[in-house]
Amino acid sequence: MHTDAHRAAIDALELLLPQTQCTQCGYAGCRPYAEAIVTQAAPINRCPPGGSAGIAILAAHTGQPIVALDPDAGIERPRRVAHIVAELCIGCTKCIEACPVDAIAGAPKRLHAVIVQACTGCDLCLPPCPVDCIQMVAPPLGQEGWSRADAQNARARHQRRAQRIERLQLAQAHRLADKAQHHLDELDAAAGLKGDAPVADTADSAARTEAARKRAVIEAAVARARARLAAR
Ligand code: SF4
Ligand code: SF4
Ligand code: SF4
Repeated sequence: MHTDAHRAAIDALELLLPQTQCTQCGYAGCRPYAEAIVTQAAPINRCPPGGSAGIAILAAHTGQPIVALDPDAGIERPRRVAHIVAELCIGCTKCIEACPVDAIAGAPKRLHAVIVQACTGCDLCLPPCPVDCIQMVAPPLGQEGWSRADAQNARARHQRRAQRIERLQLAQAHRLADKAQHHLDELDAAAGLKGDAPVADTADSAARTEAARKRAVIEAAVARARARLAAR
């Protein structure tokens, strides 16, 4: 649990990071890296997209000495953007699922295309592509740089994506909990059970035992699902 002071420090530090969400630092994105620097004293030299200029900014902000980029995290290089080779794309949508900033447009079984201005060059769409049709190329003329405005735009896109995923997961959790509850009601009806009410005389003992076992399993699943939903 972060204190208010921690949260403010993380907010300030996060804004200094390039927001490519590439995970090269070893964390799940720029904010988790900022959290690790603030709360776990993670080294400030693990962000290749920020490079030496980024390290200097982090050093000035934290009061730490300037150090060289950790080569284990990656190398500093010019901006690149993803390009999808249209003739090869099979429209599987795996790249869309992987892109942390929603920079790929497309629909199932349709050609996919990269929104160049939004592409952070994170490379995360490359591994999941089953036909290897994504290439990293130089950006169009005039878009070679990665400005602070680009970073803030990427941060906003990343946050919107995270919120959308959260909403979808929540809806899915509600659906599963409702489905399990419905199954429970059906079991009760079939076995003549209702809460702690006595078992119907006609049900044979093996069936009653099996119904009670299933009921216990489903009840536990429903309770876990409801607890997870309540914790959000
Ligand atoms: S740009 Fe990549 S390496 Fe740098 S902090 Fe963000 S996720 Fe980590
Ligand atoms: S299109 Fe690929 S390289 Fe560009 S931001 Fe999305 S995942 Fe990263
Ligand atoms: S992962 Fe590759 S094949 Fe699938 S939609 Fe993306 S670019 Fe096309």
